[in-house]
Amino acid sequence: MTESVSAYASLYPLITYYLNRLNDWGLCFRKCKVCGRIFLAKSQRYGLCGDKCRKKQALQNKREFDERARKNNYDLLYKNECQNWRNKINKAKKTEGFPADRLEEMLTAFEAFKKEALQRKKAVKERTANPKEFTDWLYQQSDIILRLSEKSS
Ligand SMILES: [Zn+2]
Repeated sequence: MTESVSAYASLYPLITYYLNRLNDWGLCFRKCKVCGRIFLAKSQRYGLCGDKCRKKQALQNKREFDERARKNNYDLLYKNECQNWRNKINKAKKTEGFPADRLEEMLTAFEAFKKEALQRKKAVKERTANPKEFTDWLYQQSDIILRLSEKSS
C-alpha cells in the first residue's frame, strides 16, 4: 500500500508539468455535453468534442425548437428567441477573455435580428406571410447567434 502511494506520488511532478504545459498552450480539459467524453479544448467555451456531437446537438436544438413552435404561437416563439439571444450575449459578456470584437458583432446581429423579426411578425399579422415561414426564419436566426458565441478564435 505504502509502495503504491509513493509510486503515484512520484508521478505528481510529471502531471503538474503537463498541466502547466497545457495551460501554456491555452488548452483545457472539457467534458462533452453530448457524449460525456473528456477532451482537450482551446477554451472553456467549447462544450462539444467534435463534429459528430455538434451535429447531434444541432438536431436536438432543432427538435426542441419545433416542439416549442408547436406549443407556442409565433409571437411567444419570437419572445423566446429574443431571450435566447440575450442569454448568449450575457454569457459572452461574463466569459473571461471573450473577444470584444465578436461581442460587438453579436450585439449588431441582435439589433438586425430584432428589426427584421418585427417586420416579418407584422407581415404575419397582416396575413401577407404565414406563421410557418416566420418560425422557420426564426430558427435559422438562432443558428447565427449560436455560431457567433461558439466560433473558434
Ligand atoms: Zn462528444
